[in-house]
Amino acid sequence: MSVLEHPSFDNHEKVLFATDKETGLRAIIGVHSTARGPSVGGCRFWKYENSAAALDDVLRLSQGMSYKNVMADLPIGGGKSVIMKPDGDFDREALFQAFGRAVDSLSGHYITAEDVGVSPADMVSVSKSTKHVTGLPEGKAASGDPSPVTAEGVFRGIRACVKRGGFSDLSGVRVAVQGASGHVGNYLCGHLAKAGAQLIVTDINLDGLKPLAEQHGATIVDKDAIYDQDADVFAPCALGSIINPDTIDRLKVKIVAGAANNQLSTRDMGAKLQERGILYAPDYVINAGGIINVMGEIRGDFDPSWVQGKLENLETTLGEILDRAENEGRPANVIADEMARARIEEARAAKAA
Ligand code: NAD
Repeated sequence: MSVLEHPSFDNHEKVLFATDKETGLRAIIGVHSTARGPSVGGCRFWKYENSAAALDDVLRLSQGMSYKNVMADLPIGGGKSVIMKPDGDFDREALFQAFGRAVDSLSGHYITAEDVGVSPADMVSVSKSTKHVTGLPEGKAASGDPSPVTAEGVFRGIRACVKRGGFSDLSGVRVAVQGASGHVGNYLCGHLAKAGAQLIVTDINLDGLKPLAEQHGATIVDKDAIYDQDADVFAPCALGSIINPDTIDRLKVKIVAGAANNQLSTRDMGAKLQERGILYAPDYVINAGGIINVMGEIRGDFDPSWVQGKLENLETTLGEILDRAENEGRPANVIADEMARARIEEARAAKAA
């Protein structure tokens, strides 16, 4: 199947396939839209089953970045990249430098940052080949690891949903966190525990879960059991497509709100959640904290109070979407997508005029 006929292709402006024999690099960069500015989005380093899976991921993720960036009202477009983790041994620094050369070939139409499997140290390697990189640990206006800010935005989103769901606050609210050993999941657990929530956690990396049990009294469950928990909130903070025909009917929660990108395997899962009376916080609306943090770096004058103001705005936008979902009786994800597409189209038309 060609890229142009791919079901996840959404008139992406550019899709770049980059390979480098010497380092084993096999990467795809998706530039979904530059209508509002250069496309910005993280780089995912993952063991994909095949290149078709990597392509599907980058097409969906880069579209999601356009939606995320416009809903956070940032003057940037949406892009994303994936690197297929090589089999066997490889030189990580050389691989990320080769990826940096691919980013550089797009002359600033795409600016990269961290995503799953990528650290600020990897971004340092990328920065040896291109200046179109953010999320660096040091330097002028460096914003560092975006995960704590993403976690704060997700926490705010969960807290807002919980209040709508009839709880006065998070005290005693049971939250099932998937991917709790990960960067965002771990910080999120810290916020939730501090607010008095009861944590139920899972991850494929068990080592990261033990400290959560020790420090916060979290209950550890098997990765496949997370969907069946008697919890109030499900917070997906691992990978996408976890709300799918196999899992949706197992959920006993009242709220789904988490950090993972593309939580719904297909758009109609949003309607199914709504039918089941489950409140859904559109992923790209509440997980924009990281890109807001990165934007602080792109602006060149990293200002924590600007970041905090933007996080507050996320809550306002979420409230608007959930109000409309309730009043119009339509799924929150559909309303969020419509709002995002309209804003991108407005910018595209203004640019073309
Ligand atoms: P991460 O790689 O640090 O964490 C992901 C965690 O999920 C890992 O601990 C991994 O072991 C776990 N995991 C993977 N498969 C699992 C499974 N089947 N069951 C349970 N756990 C599983 O990544 P991260 O940076 O914390 O990002 C988490 C999610 O949030 C991703 O979907 C990412 O795209 C999204 N996100 C991250 C940021 C950010 O700032 N890091 C921003 C926006 C969105």
